[in-house]
Amino acid sequence: MSANKITDLIHHPYQPPEGFEAPQIGVHKASTVIFPNVAAMRSRDWKNKSGYTYGLHGTPTTFTLEERIASLEGGLQCVLVPSGLAAIVAVDIALLGQGDDMLLPHNVYGARLGLTQEELPRFGITTRYYDAMDAADLAAKITPKTKLVWLEAPGSVTMEFPDLPALVRICREKAVICALDNTWGAGLAFNAFDLDGQGLTVDISSQALTKYPSGGGDVLMGSIVTRDEALHHKIKLSHMRLGYGVAANDAELVLRSLPSIGIRYRAADQSARQLAHWLKTRPEVEAVLHPAIEGAPGHQNWQNLCRKRPVAGIESARSATDLIANEHRSEGYAAGLFSIVFHEKFSPSQVDAFVDALKLFKIGYSWGGHLSLAVPYDIASMRNQNVAHWPYRGGLVRFSIGFEEAADLMQDLSQAFHALTKLREN
Ligand SMILES: *Cc1c(COP(=O)(O)O)cnc(C)c1O
Repeated sequence: MSANKITDLIHHPYQPPEGFEAPQIGVHKASTVIFPNVAAMRSRDWKNKSGYTYGLHGTPTTFTLEERIASLEGGLQCVLVPSGLAAIVAVDIALLGQGDDMLLPHNVYGARLGLTQEELPRFGITTRYYDAMDAADLAAKITPKTKLVWLEAPGSVTMEFPDLPALVRICREKAVICALDNTWGAGLAFNAFDLDGQGLTVDISSQALTKYPSGGGDVLMGSIVTRDEALHHKIKLSHMRLGYGVAANDAELVLRSLPSIGIRYRAADQSARQLAHWLKTRPEVEAVLHPAIEGAPGHQNWQNLCRKRPVAGIESARSATDLIANEHRSEGYAAGLFSIVFHEKFSPSQVDAFVDALKLFKIGYSWGGHLSLAVPYDIASMRNQNVAHWPYRGGLVRFSIGFEEAADLMQDLSQAFHALTKLREN
């Protein structure tokens, strides 16, 4: 994240109504948009945002949110959809047709597999899986039928951080469109549209705005960001034919949360890393899967992409901006999301009991909000189309770290470990 990306976001241009300027932007609701005359009705073009035509085609509120998400991610265009999953579906539907093949990482976001396995085959679209941690495997699996490659960094739940630039280079070389599920990075941890500082770019970056951009655990929304006008129009037209739209009140909630995304992301990151380091010392824990923690799968890839070496001459950095930028560069960015694997001596029901014993951590899906959450997962059953070997036998619990004091969360985890030990003794 550039030092001024967040500042740019907070000061993103917005034209308020004449004589009324306020910290938040207006909320405009419409299905019907009224035209001054028939000529205006015929000439307005929603596709290029040169005019408003119908609520589903966008309002000043949704256009503003689209522009802000696009600039946060380093893209040029954005399409909003009613959920993060809808963003994935919209990309698949827009780009794939009968006889086409799609490649997904082995550790892909699980809820998208229903579409892949149950819906797309009815339209003659096949899906195969590559090992996200092995660029050669992706290269070997791309065939002339492969029309779309999805990327995720890190993988869902198991948190392996891939060599994203290497995967994107392969897609570029083979001229296959690549789409990144950028929910974890949120446009903050790295720039999906410039991965190597020399313009290496994904074609599409989708996000679940449900997570950090909303930040409240109360909104479902997704975004599809691009830099290529033709690709954007293809997705936008398909999106409109599908009838996807987002509600003004939901857009308002995301717009209201967006200015604080930088400090929220950073705060969750810091607490999560403290807890992850501490969990590494616990005897009950076999592995801590957090890309910014030494020894985690893909840690080096995370370092290379999300943690830049400080600019030379930090000691002599003259301005406060240089100092702050350098501090952020050297710490790197990571979401407040990680998993632990228990020693295999703990049974699945004991791991469940550990989660049940947590008091501050709530049990629930999603992440990126103020409340810390925990969910146990059974990896063996999730990865049946697995190409990569899963090395652990113990149960896995994923944590999303919220804004409670890290010390309080640590105490909560401690007492749950204690409950687990007591359970073993009984
Ligand atoms: C949550 C999530 C989604 C889906 O978002 P929803 O808004 O819940 O549909 C997609 N991808 C990733 C990586 C996610 O974490």
